[in-house]
This record gives sequence, structure tokens and C-alpha cells, in this order.
Amino acid sequence: MTMLQHNYQSVCAQLADAEQRAGRPAGSVRLVAVSKTFPAADIREVYMAGQRDFGENYIQEWFSKTEELADLPDIVWHVIGQVQSNKTRIVAQRAHWVHTVDKLKTAQRLSAQRPPEMPPLQVCIEVNIAGEVNKHGVPPEEAVALACEVAKLPNLTVRGLMCVAEAAADEEELRRQFERMQALLDELQAAGVAADVLSMGMSADMPLAVACGATHVRIGSAIFGRRDYG
Ligand SMILES: *Cc1c(COP(=O)(O)O)cnc(C)c1O
Repeated sequence: MTMLQHNYQSVCAQLADAEQRAGRPAGSVRLVAVSKTFPAADIREVYMAGQRDFGENYIQEWFSKTEELADLPDIVWHVIGQVQSNKTRIVAQRAHWVHTVDKLKTAQRLSAQRPPEMPPLQVCIEVNIAGEVNKHGVPPEEAVALACEVAKLPNLTVRGLMCVAEAAADEEELRRQFERMQALLDELQAAGVAADVLSMGMSADMPLAVACGATHVRIGSAIFGRRDYG
């Protein structure tokens, strides 16, 4: 087993443990392995250990990896970074999921550009849950209204809500943010959208996110190692 495969197995074990401690069924939380900045060869290694869902932030970088990994037909690509207008076509053509929709305009472009022979693009609305100034996402008060608008688009399926919790928050504050996400999802369901996804929890806050109802956790550094930018 390689070091990455070892890391991967250990994250899977931690996730199983978090599910059990939260009293949630085994396998009920989907692991999205966040591979941004790491080469396609690293993704292939983790794929060989059994992982299928991968998350990427930077569209151009991700596009190259989809080319290099085109021989892995059942890989599931989750876009978890900002999608600029000039990148929506690539995303509509190659992604299975987009977790970071925070503008109706982006959603409209994705829907219009989704090839008709492909299944609907699965999307989450990104919520700026702590109201941080430099963060993407809609304010919590606007999340349900945006999700309802996006749900009307023909080639997208609104699956739920996503957030990046505040990095500096203590455990109590994090719990408050995650619980507010769950409350917003309940509100969205009450508004008639059949959404079932809460994408929240990263390497540092995964067990708490699972305890608070996360259905998708996005784990990068605990699998692939420390990221080197620049
Ligand atoms: C990078 C990133 C992650 C993974 O973060 P880690 O701390 O490395 O686990 C998750 N979600 C988003 C949106 C990210 O940008």
C-alpha cells in the first residue's frame, strides 16, 4: 500500500467512526476526496484504493486531470470552487456535481450548457454561513430563495446546501453554524424542493459535521498531504 492509500484508509476509518458515534448508518456519509493542487497520478492511486468521488477547485487544473484520467469511466467529479462565467461550459460538460452555486446567473449558464444526452448536473447552493466578508456563498437568509429559483432550471438538480465553516471558530460556534445549515435544509424541503444533501466538514472539522448531519464531507489534506501553493 502506498502512503496515499494508507492515508485514505485511515480517513475512511475515521469517517466510519464518526458515523457510528453520531448514531448514523454506516456508509451514510459520502467522502469527497479533495485533490486540488495534486497531480492526476495521486488521484489514480486513491482511485485504485477504491475511492470514486473527487473534488476540485480550479477549473483549468481540473480540466487537465479529466483528460489524464479519461480511462477511469466511473470517477465522479465534484466542482467545489468558484465557477466563472467563461468556465461554465467545461463544467457543464464534465462535472457530475457543483457544490458552489451562489448566483442564479451561473446556474442558468450551467443548465443551458449541460449537454442534453447527459443526466442533470447535481448542484448545491453555497451558503456563507458565518457571514465572512472574503467568503463566497449567499447569505443564509437568501439560500432558500436562490435554491428555489435554481430548482426551476431544466438541466440541474438541486441536491442541497454547502458551506465552508469559519476556520477560526471554536467547537461551539462550529456546531451552531452546522446546525443552522441543517435548519436551512429543512426549510428548503418545506418549500417543496426535494433536497437531501448537506456538503460540510473538511479535514479539521469532519466528526462534528457528521454529528450535525453532513451527507458529504470534503477531505483534502488528510488524504493527499499538505498543499503547496505557488
Ligand atoms: C480545499 C477544500 C477542502 C478540503 O480542505 P482540507 O482542509 O484539505 O480537508 C474542502 N472544501 C473546499 C471548498 C476546499 O476548497
